[in-house]
Amino acid sequence: MSVRVVARIRPLLEKELGKDVIVRADRVDDAKPLTVVKIPSPKNEAEEFSFAFNSVYDQSTSQEELFTAEVAPHIKALFQGLDVTIFAYGVTGTGKTHTMRGGLRLAERGVIPRLLSNVFRRGKKMMKDTNGETVVDVALSYYEIYNDKVFDLLEPPEKRQPAGLPLREKEGKTFVVGLSERPCDDLKDFERLYIEANNNRVTAATKLNAHSSRSHAILRVKVTQTSGDTIRESTASAIDLAGSEDNRRTDNGKERLVESAAINKSLFVLSQCVDAISRGDKRIPYRESKMTRILSLGQNNGITVMILNLAPIRSYHLDTLSSLNVSSRAKRIEVREIENEIVFKQAPRTNSGLLGANIARQPLR
Ligand code: ADP
Ligand code: MG
Repeated sequence: MSVRVVARIRPLLEKELGKDVIVRADRVDDAKPLTVVKIPSPKNEAEEFSFAFNSVYDQSTSQEELFTAEVAPHIKALFQGLDVTIFAYGVTGTGKTHTMRGGLRLAERGVIPRLLSNVFRRGKKMMKDTNGETVVDVALSYYEIYNDKVFDLLEPPEKRQPAGLPLREKEGKTFVVGLSERPCDDLKDFERLYIEANNNRVTAATKLNAHSSRSHAILRVKVTQTSGDTIRESTASAIDLAGSEDNRRTDNGKERLVESAAINKSLFVLSQCVDAISRGDKRIPYRESKMTRILSLGQNNGITVMILNLAPIRSYHLDTLSSLNVSSRAKRIEVREIENEIVFKQAPRTNSGLLGANIARQPLR
């Protein structure tokens, strides 16, 4: 099981032009790529906190660049039978949906359509190269977890049971009972299903007077390779997580609090799992939330990429810091920034946690 944690800082939106930018990408030294996120302390602007990641993508990063660097390299592993999981984590408005789903224009397409397009291409090539001896089938499931309940997004909202779909264990794996699965042959097929399912998601949320940013949306792409008697099955999961903002601050209606508790718990468990995996722990606390259970995070031989989405401006300050700080391992080190006299006491760990290993910075004496 391997895990990468990367950060992506989105550009300013048109309506934000001229606003105060407080988050920036940095490198440990001039010869190195961007791996550090810097943000001032809310208490003392002269202090700056640093958070290290496996990689940091700044506002100039295109959808294609992000996909090529963080997702494309794992598609080969997927066809070798490994499960691949890509999460977008962050505050509402920071670019999770943009990163995962993206826009309609080709250049604006996000991780999900690019992933599908690569999977279809690789599958077709494999069938051709083996003269049809290997058959590759792709099937989609798409569901959301809202208030710790699982709902099928490929089914119309009218068919939803209030209790959601039950989970069941089989051979050490967790399944969603009754989750639909649709075969999908090409990108057109996929797009039709995906648009319909996303409409289902919005309709269901509106009915509950909720917002779709309050649920986790999980797209599962199952790849089945059959050649003779051998069947190889693996899945790629792409997850647009619920917003990680602290709703106690912004909206304290009763319903929002129930939602927040469910969101906070699952995001917390997720970050604990990511940390435990990156440390190489034997015990991964995946059983403690439905989302991590279903994904068997830490149980499978797989690859996990967590993308922390960040907005660069001051109005997100506290939520940005807390999303940077979510990981248990993230012990913020408060060191005053003094002119340019900065020394890195400790190189960032290559396998950073959700929050990344903080870099201890001390002024030179
Ligand atoms: P989230 O899903 O985290 O709530 P969105 O993906 O909806 O956030 O992004 C919020 C806004 O920012 C949207 O208008 C989106 O188009 C825009 N946006 C986010 N990331 C980028 C980016 N990398 N480049 C351009 N616009 C972006
Ligand atoms: Mg969103």
